[in-house]
Amino acid sequence: MTQYKTIYKCGRCGATSYQPVIGRDATGALMPTGVYRCTGCRVTFTDARDWWGHPGASTAAPAAPSAQASASNGS
Ligand SMILES: [Zn+2]
Repeated sequence: MTQYKTIYKCGRCGATSYQPVIGRDATGALMPTGVYRCTGCRVTFTDARDWWGHPGASTAAPAAPSAQASASNGS
């Protein structure tokens, strides 16, 4: 069984791995559905960032401090 070990962990139960959810397509073949399931609490997700429990994990760089009020102009 495929199981993904990650450096991240579930934001809900703390499990550190998840498995792909397998389903049957129209022909009856077993195919990955693109959905994953936590091995701990069985929550399903399609984006691992949801599983980490860090919505918007792509942290925007903090705005530069706007303390450059008076730039020395001409000397
Ligand atoms: Zn979990």
